[in-house]
Amino acid sequence: MTAVQSDAAALLGVYSRVGPLFVAGEGAELIAEDGTRYLDFVAGIAVNALGYNHPVIRQAILRALDTGLVHTSNLYRTEPGEHLAAELVARAFNSHGQAFFCNSGAEANEGAFKFARKWSGKTEIVAFSGSFHGRLFASLAATDRPDYRRPFEPLLAGVQIVPLGDRAAAARAVTGATAAVIIEPLQGEGGVRLVEPEFLAFLRELCDERGAALIFDEVQCGLGRTGTLFACEQAGVTPDVLTLAKPLAGGLPMGAVLVSDRVAAALAPGDHATTFGGGPLVATVALEVLRTIADPDFLAEVRAKGAWLGERLARLAAQAPRVRVVRGRGLMWGIELAEPAAPVIAAARERRLLVLTAGPNVIRIVPPLTIGRDDLERGVAVLAEALA
Ligand code: PLP
Repeated sequence: MTAVQSDAAALLGVYSRVGPLFVAGEGAELIAEDGTRYLDFVAGIAVNALGYNHPVIRQAILRALDTGLVHTSNLYRTEPGEHLAAELVARAFNSHGQAFFCNSGAEANEGAFKFARKWSGKTEIVAFSGSFHGRLFASLAATDRPDYRRPFEPLLAGVQIVPLGDRAAAARAVTGATAAVIIEPLQGEGGVRLVEPEFLAFLRELCDERGAALIFDEVQCGLGRTGTLFACEQAGVTPDVLTLAKPLAGGLPMGAVLVSDRVAAALAPGDHATTFGGGPLVATVALEVLRTIADPDFLAEVRAKGAWLGERLARLAAQAPRVRVVRGRGLMWGIELAEPAAPVIAAARERRLLVLTAGPNVIRIVPPLTIGRDDLERGVAVLAEALA
């Protein structure tokens, strides 16, 4: 065996990593090894909702470590996971539901599909154009990225992707054989695309009529990102299954599948499991993250900052001929360009602002929810320069 050229070469080449080597973080900034500070509008891809080095997360980790319990497995009861489950289902289903914990967004959606199949007794899944639900065999089948899917086919069979917002197409696709309809109430990876509340309500009715489970994937748009704890609250539509991950445990890996009572009733011991899910360390941190984000004052501040950011981006769009449209809600925004977004993202990085793509032509902005207005202002000014 020959020695690898550098340590980085030992990482499997499935990512194209760019830019500096980061060694620390503080607030809304990442700090490179030479001390350069980067304003971070990426937040670990919508994960670091409380930014870097937040005292709530620090203290929760230290408190959890003090117990000596990082992990016990799913064989035994521990308190933090039980508290977290109760608080999540209280907020999502008015306490008429249950939670299953896993370790990522894709895993949460894979679990959601299994639960929907068991509850409905059916097998097929309907998803929408622009969707992203993960990279495993079922979640990838429901993801509208043929380039991601093709090398790994055959994926899960019986998955249809229909045009987002097209009621007639949805009504044709959802049949008596459909186990689940899955949708992001605000699409992330697919270009930061808003979904009409009326479309979500239409899907709710359709699922009820045909006996399918309605799954809302709030892995990216959930937990305060759009200015309410769950994005679906703004549409006034409650799903049967709600999946969460990204920001849930403040940067530690954790996913959750929240199910209504009627779906929960179909599940029994042995139906699903994961060794690490909902362990005491991650659950202790998640509980504190949840309580911080769910604070009405915190959410009101996200909405206010989001409204301000939306206005500033609209103004920027009006002055930048390369920008086609801006769209978003809360602190989740997309700037669609008439050309590829990657060069603008590189130009922003040279000016020490981190932003990312959402599809080839869209610049995505998902800063920490704790970001200050001065930092937002600074970032928008850099973006204007990068677009010029
Ligand atoms: N669902 C949505 C809406 C996402 O944005 C993502 C990741 O970007 C996933 C699922 C997959 O999550 P993970 O990367 O944790 O598997």
